[in-house]
Amino acid sequence: MRILLHRADGVTEPWVRDFASVLPQAEVVVWQEGVHCAPCDYAVLWSPPAALLDHLAKVKAIFLTGAGVDAILKFGDALPPVPIIRLGDAGMAVQMAEYVAHAVLRYYRRFDEYERQARRGVWAPLPQFDKSQFTVGVMGMGMLGKRVLDSLAQFGFPLRGWSRGHKEIAGVACFAGEEGLDEFLRGTRVLVCMLPLTPDTTNLLARANLSKLPEGAFVINVARGAHLAEPDLLTLIKSGHIAGATLDVFRNEPLPGPHPFWDEPRITITPHISALTLRSESVAQIAGKIGALERGEQVADVVDRARGY
Ligand code: NDP
Repeated sequence: MRILLHRADGVTEPWVRDFASVLPQAEVVVWQEGVHCAPCDYAVLWSPPAALLDHLAKVKAIFLTGAGVDAILKFGDALPPVPIIRLGDAGMAVQMAEYVAHAVLRYYRRFDEYERQARRGVWAPLPQFDKSQFTVGVMGMGMLGKRVLDSLAQFGFPLRGWSRGHKEIAGVACFAGEEGLDEFLRGTRVLVCMLPLTPDTTNLLARANLSKLPEGAFVINVARGAHLAEPDLLTLIKSGHIAGATLDVFRNEPLPGPHPFWDEPRITITPHISALTLRSESVAQIAGKIGALERGEQVADVVDRARGY
């Protein structure tokens, strides 16, 4: 069995070593631009260069080393008609829960303001926010969104969620589809975006929708940069309608040097680290699924190409 491996960061050796330990019968071939490679049975990649697609003609399945699928589905019909299998949890959900819980608590306990006060040498206790009015609204209640809601429930925040299809989750007010979006937004004090990037969700966080959030709302985007209209967020922050944003993802990554977000103290920037791919967990999961496919069994986490996630 031959597995074609591509890593955008160029760090391949530990992946080859991990695959050798869990699938000793497999030969892992590291893809290199311009170097001929014999046909492979499986591919393991996430955001491949277009030139790699020529080497996918004989694969039985494509495994992604991430939960997001936009970086592969953008190739559309140029992809072979084989299952594309995204990563299941593999340690990502707990990281996302840590990141979002930290950001929500930072706003709720006003640490963002205390940080700014401290820089000016100001000692001034601020009134506590009313928790019953501090509703957290999670867009996308999939693998990651559900875990984030679970973790926030422990702090007693009122919770709501928005998804494509209707859901019933204990302790969460659930909204669905375009018809549920307005009401969802109007009652959300902290908006957390955990949606996949699809044609329907691109630019969803633009002025029209962001303006529906109540005055003093916060925005946390841990999904994809293209969900957010960056100039609109900036305008709403400058006007005071939005009190702050924590952003892990951007239209252009790395976020370019002269971008106005760097100069806005109410925007917290992290470099796309909210839920990192954990190598050993990912390799173990992919190896398990390769074994299942070889035995003719079904596997979880197959991407629905028509739906886009
Ligand atoms: P899932 O596929 O498990 O869940 C997606 C959720 O979004 C579902 O609840 C789905 O609704 C909902 N959804 C999709 N389209 C729409 C729509 N048009 N309107 C309303 N709801 C919609 O995804 P994950 O939870 O695993 O991951 C979510 C995203 O997080 C990934 O696609 C990726 O972009 C991002 N991500 C970011 C990382 C980072 O480090 N910043 C790391 C990992 C992922 P329904 O349940 O009805 O289908």
